[in-house]
Amino acid sequence: MSLADKACPCGRLDARGRARAYAACCGLAHTGEQPAPDAETLLRSRYSAFVLGDVPYLLRSWHSSTRPATLDLDAGTKWLGLEIKQHRSTSEDRAEVEFVARFRVAGRAVRQLERSRFVREAGHWFYVDGDGISLHAARGRVHPPGA
Ligand SMILES: [Zn+2]
Repeated sequence: MSLADKACPCGRLDARGRARAYAACCGLAHTGEQPAPDAETLLRSRYSAFVLGDVPYLLRSWHSSTRPATLDLDAGTKWLGLEIKQHRSTSEDRAEVEFVARFRVAGRAVRQLERSRFVREAGHWFYVDGDGISLHAARGRVHPPGA
């Protein structure tokens, strides 16, 4: 089974509740065939790029104002899953997505809650920045959006 036919790392389901194939999900954005139509799709494609080690895509989808010059992925991180909590537009070309990413690093399982900000320029969505909060370390400090 090629990567294209496998279930997408982002875990998105189709209308029938089945896992979407990578080629019909984040693969569309990674190849440039179909740029992410919204911030949630962009976030999913970036999560999948982390899983697949696609550094060029991570840099390409990063807004120029906050994009690092280079990016080194920690090969020891094992990604376990993505859960979208909330996706909201904050203006016509800005959006926030709140999500939980689960991963294992140095034998330790981590659930990371993050709120990421996105901006759309010339029809393309870009990741701007985000506030990451480890749920283990910061329980009780998670404020609802807008609070
Ligand atoms: Zn996907």
